[in-house]
Amino acid sequence: MNHIIGLQCTVCGETYSQHEVEYVCPKHGDNGNLDVLYDYEQIAHNWERDQTGRAKQGMWRYSALLPIGQTDEVSPLHVGDTPLYPSELLAKQLGLREVWIKDDGRNPTGSLKDRASALVVARAIAEKRKLVTTASTGNAGAALAGLAASMHLPTVIFAPATAPEAKVAQLLVYGSHVFLVDGTYDDAFDLCLQTTRKYGWYCRNTGYNPYTAEGKKTVSYEICEQLASQHGKFHAPDRILVSVGDGNIISGIHKGLLDLLRLGWIDQMPKLVGVQAEGSAAMYKAWKENLDPLTMPGINAHTIADSISAGLPRDRVKAMNAIRQTDGFYMTVSDDAILAAIPQLARATGVFAEPAAAATYAGLTQAVQDGMIESDEQVVLVITGSGLKDVAAAKRSVPQAHRIPASLHAVEETVAQIFGE
Ligand SMILES: *Cc1c(COP(=O)(O)O)cnc(C)c1O
Ligand SMILES: [Zn+2]
Repeated sequence: MNHIIGLQCTVCGETYSQHEVEYVCPKHGDNGNLDVLYDYEQIAHNWERDQTGRAKQGMWRYSALLPIGQTDEVSPLHVGDTPLYPSELLAKQLGLREVWIKDDGRNPTGSLKDRASALVVARAIAEKRKLVTTASTGNAGAALAGLAASMHLPTVIFAPATAPEAKVAQLLVYGSHVFLVDGTYDDAFDLCLQTTRKYGWYCRNTGYNPYTAEGKKTVSYEICEQLASQHGKFHAPDRILVSVGDGNIISGIHKGLLDLLRLGWIDQMPKLVGVQAEGSAAMYKAWKENLDPLTMPGINAHTIADSISAGLPRDRVKAMNAIRQTDGFYMTVSDDAILAAIPQLARATGVFAEPAAAATYAGLTQAVQDGMIESDEQVVLVITGSGLKDVAAAKRSVPQAHRIPASLHAVEETVAQIFGE
C-alpha cells in the first residue's frame, strides 16, 4: 500500500508505519487514536487509471483513498452508494435553500456502520486474522457480524444487555457469539479490550481501531459526488449534520472532506454540526466549556437513542477537531424531540430513521429555530440507521392503529371518525 504514508497519533503527532503499531499510539495507550496519512500527490496522479482499471461497487470505488491493497479481498455485499434525496418540502418548511437526506440506513445491515466494518473485515482477511471482535451499542456489532458472515469470518460481539431486540437478533442470525453485558456500552467496550488482549483477536472497537473512520469517510465522498452538478466531479455542501455518540462517524465525515480538500477536488470545508442527546452530551459539554477532549470527564449516559449513548466518547479528540476546525457546533436535543422527529422525517421524506438518526433532523429543526443556520445554506442530514432497527421506540412516537372486528360496518364507523364522512 504505497499510497499510505503511515499512522499518526492524534494526541502527540508521532507517526508510525502500518507494521509498527496495530491500534493506538504506544505512548498514549487507549487514548492515542491514530489517523491514517496518505500520499495525496500519488493518489491524484493514479486516480484516473485506478478508476477505469478497477470498476468496483459501492465504497470500493474509492479504494485508492482507502487503506487497502489493490488485490485485497473485499465483501461481496453492496456497502455504500446510498441515495441522497433532496427535500423541497423540508427546505420550504425550515426556510433553507436546500435540504438533502443521505439515507445510510440503506446499507446491508441497516446502518452507516457497514462502511467501517466492511473495511475492518477486509483488513482482518488481508492480515489472516481468525476472529474479529467488537463492543457495540448494537449497530457496529450487527455490521461486523454481517460483513464478517459474508466472508466466513467468526465474530464475538459485546453489547449492553439493554440493546434493542432487532439489533441483538441480527447478531445472532449472522452467527456471532454474543455477550450481552450487564452494564453500559462503556463497560462492554472495556471488557472487549481486555478480551482482545487476552486472546489476541482482531478488535474493531470504535475509536480504537484506526480503520473504522477510514471506512466511514466514504459517506463524505458520496455526498460531494452526488451534489456535483455537470460542472465538477465533487461539490461540498455548506453544512452537514450528524448525530454523535463516540464521535467516530463525525471524525470519519471530517476526514473524508479533508481528503477531498487536500486533493483539491472540493473548494470549501463544510461546517459540521454534531447532534447529541441531552442525556448523552459529553462532547457538547466539553465543547461548550472549551475543555481539552483528552482529559474531559465522562458522564452517565441515558437516552432513548441507544446508538448515541456513550459516557466517554472514544473518538473525542478527533470529534472535537471536526467541530472546531470546521467552524461548526455541537448541540443537544431532548429524547422527546428525538421521538417526535421519527414520524416527522418519515412523513416529510419517506425515510424511516432509528432514534439516533432522527436526532439529526430534530437538531436541524432546533438549530434553525435558534438562528444557528443561515437561510441560504445547502444542508445535508446524514441518516445513520434504519427505523426498523428499533421498532419499539418508533411505536412510542406515533398513535396506535385502529383495531377493528372483521366487518365493513366497523370500517365505516372508523372512516367516519377519521374523515368525518
Ligand atoms: C453509531 C451510530 C451513531 C453515532 O456514531 P458515533 O461514531 O458513535 O458518534 C449515530 N447513529 C447511528 C444509527 C449509529 O449506529
Ligand atoms: Zn501519541
